[in-house]
Amino acid sequence: MRPIQMVDTKTQYHKIKPEVDKAVIEVMESTAFINGKPVHDFAAHLSSYLGVKHTIPCANGTDALQIAMMALGLQPGDEVITPSFTYIATTEVIALLKLTPVFVEVDARTFCMDPGSLEKAITPKTKAIVPVHLYGQSAPMEEIMAIARKYSLYVIEDNAQAIGCAYTFSDGTKKKTGTIGQIGTTSFYPSKNLGAFGDGGAIFTNDEQLDAKLKMIANHGQSRQYYHDVVGCNSRLDSIQAAILNIKLKHLDAYAAARRKAADYYDAAFTGHPKITTPFRAAYSDHVFHQYTILLEGVDREGLKKFLAENGIPSMIYYPVPGHRQKMFEQFNPAAKDLPVTDWLTERVISLPVHTELDEEQLAFITTNVLSFINKF
Ligand SMILES: *Cc1c(COP(=O)(O)O)cnc(C)c1O
Repeated sequence: MRPIQMVDTKTQYHKIKPEVDKAVIEVMESTAFINGKPVHDFAAHLSSYLGVKHTIPCANGTDALQIAMMALGLQPGDEVITPSFTYIATTEVIALLKLTPVFVEVDARTFCMDPGSLEKAITPKTKAIVPVHLYGQSAPMEEIMAIARKYSLYVIEDNAQAIGCAYTFSDGTKKKTGTIGQIGTTSFYPSKNLGAFGDGGAIFTNDEQLDAKLKMIANHGQSRQYYHDVVGCNSRLDSIQAAILNIKLKHLDAYAAARRKAADYYDAAFTGHPKITTPFRAAYSDHVFHQYTILLEGVDREGLKKFLAENGIPSMIYYPVPGHRQKMFEQFNPAAKDLPVTDWLTERVISLPVHTELDEEQLAFITTNVLSFINKF
């Protein structure tokens, strides 16, 4: 059996190696390392794949969120509502820009922002909402957009974990996640569903004016060369990464299907087990399984993790400490907030390996080991 990894980017690379190597060498020969043709090609291809007017490539998913918040003109003290149960990048940039993060609950089944908790957190200072499409499934965007319209708030979708996922509205229309709010952001970190061979990110919008602002901020606030109209930053996707991503984009739907196949295998093995809750699949969303995350009830999670590791099976806790309990945010006193669902999930989640290269032998080995530990007690 091949060794089991959380993500197997090496096997995935070897399947497309000739094409990728050729594209990388082409960039090296061109020496157009920055702002080369592959960057423009990739942005155009990703826009058409997602059905969005503008894609602004940038250096990583954290920058993408920061640039999005800068482009909306948010001011120090403005409140930005975000789930506590997410990766730190989502919430960190809010504080970095001297905005105030306001942490809200997620739904215990979908792990995504709870619209009821969102609406309750709105104050006259609230300016924006940042839903996160966690683990590869969409947040309830129809409800979130309705609340945003009601209170005139911006929506920035953190789509770092769900690129390629589609949301189905109640009238049957579908939109890709990251294209529903005023701005969407994503990451091409190597382990993401569309992963580069280094860092990368992108920002999406259908708004002409926002597109111009986002581009300007990502490029030193420059309107034309050496004329800097606003304070910006330097955030670029380089040509080599863009060339690789351009190739991988063609496989993104097949990659999602492979992840779903692994998830189906796990579901079949675990569904109905009294101590395991398998990932809930919301009717309104696809699931592209960035993570396969189960909830344990009455199981020694650390013991399971250790037992799996001893058998060569990696697993991860995403995330052991939610935002409202991070020392980083102490100044906002968020721990005073009662987020019982988030705390409850934090204690029970465990993510098993899910990626495009898992075979049945590996999946059988993982499920057998998980069940043998859990059934022992
Ligand atoms: C990975 C990730 C980011 C940040 O992406 P980087 O490219 O690592 O900066 C932001 N939000 C979420 C939810 C993520 O998973």
